[in-house]
Amino acid sequence: MSATMQSGRAAVSSNRDTSASQQLFARAQMLIPGGVNSPVRAFKAVGGQPLFIARADGSKVFDIDGNSYIDYVGSWGPMIMGHNHPAIREAVVKAAERGLSYGAPTAAEVRLAELICSMNPNVDMVRLVNSGTEAVMGALRLARAFTGRQKIIKFAGCYHGHTDSMLVKAGSGAMTMAEPDSLGVPIAVAQDTLVCRFNNLDKVSELLAQNDVACVIVEPVAANMGVVLPTVDFLAGLRTLCDQYGALLVFDEVITGFRLAPGGAQQYFNVSADLVTYGKIIGGGMPVGAYGGRKEIMQLVSPSGGVYQAGTLSGNPIATAAGIAQLELLQDGAVYLQLKSLAGRLAEGLSTVCREAGLVAHVTNIESLLCAFFSIESAQDYDDVRQADTSLYAKYFSMMLEQSVYLAPSQFEAMFISAAHTDDDIDQTLERAELVVSRIMKEGK
Ligand SMILES: *Cc1c(COP(=O)(O)O)cnc(C)c1O
Repeated sequence: MSATMQSGRAAVSSNRDTSASQQLFARAQMLIPGGVNSPVRAFKAVGGQPLFIARADGSKVFDIDGNSYIDYVGSWGPMIMGHNHPAIREAVVKAAERGLSYGAPTAAEVRLAELICSMNPNVDMVRLVNSGTEAVMGALRLARAFTGRQKIIKFAGCYHGHTDSMLVKAGSGAMTMAEPDSLGVPIAVAQDTLVCRFNNLDKVSELLAQNDVACVIVEPVAANMGVVLPTVDFLAGLRTLCDQYGALLVFDEVITGFRLAPGGAQQYFNVSADLVTYGKIIGGGMPVGAYGGRKEIMQLVSPSGGVYQAGTLSGNPIATAAGIAQLELLQDGAVYLQLKSLAGRLAEGLSTVCREAGLVAHVTNIESLLCAFFSIESAQDYDDVRQADTSLYAKYFSMMLEQSVYLAPSQFEAMFISAAHTDDDIDQTLERAELVVSRIMKEGK
């Protein structure tokens, strides 16, 4: 164990029952459902209680008990430049000095829209909103309006926010219509969504032929069931099928946008979408989303067209300032080489650590996204990844946390590399992973 390995979780482990995080979580649970404002933060999938974070800087997060961690959550994707980046912080501070919100147009909105449109292919116009969920809601309404059709095709394991029509799962047996995947989702709404398997074109083709489908929505890289890469033909195949049947292709780039490349998945895979949704990175850590696409489609959005969609705080001056600063840092593409090399080294290293310890694991990686699935050998779709050993992941997660490495508290989330991660961070993470995996093998899974 190296000296740095010991520095992270200082004296608290002896006194964890009364840690500040634990006390706060007890209070939070009285006031906020489950004690958290978004479910996956609650550590329900891995056991234990969430850490309360006091601050974050570069590749590290610091909890309120004084521990520091190498962070691979990255606020679930937005922090591609690392935490507390000086240029982004300065932009936010400066904007805050001019007032927090006006509810009237600003130069910053135009600049952010300009950056999004100029960096991404096939995006002539965008509408700014406040979250990825909202972006998806807007895009789906627009796709239905543009095509005059009702049905939507999505893929099992892809996440598109918590709008009713996307909170669905594949129906049982021969059913192709979806079933609600949450209480409170109307059956009638769920039935307008059809669910297919990621990386499988046959069912998509069949459903497009049988139904009036407004759009096919997909995460070009599925990054909400761990990380599942599209096969070579999958995205191009969706493009062809959508063209053939007059459906729109919607790329949900809330994660992949500005992460795979400056021009997102469209640029990376050279496949064009009709509508694209963004979030996470475009807000630099502030709440922002956007949906965009070809002018003829986007002009249907109110007030230029008849598709209503609005937002009191949309295009908020603080949020747009953060987004502009971050996108300007990404614009020349220089940072992506570094991101790819760090992530590649971590992915290969984790793979080696598991292999040498005799632990079956499948590590997926594309650019700065990666995921280590335990006890499976292939990850093509949701059916594959559901076989992963989640209790083993829970153990690994807790032991890595003890070693001051903050991973997503679920097997089915990505690890996010930022430009603030260093070779040293990767080395230390691999060293600690080796220790953890060897202990797991010794103690028995
Ligand atoms: C996070 C995410 C969303 C939802 O974004 P929120 O800002 O959490 O509402 C939608 N789609 C994808 C692909 C996401 O990863």
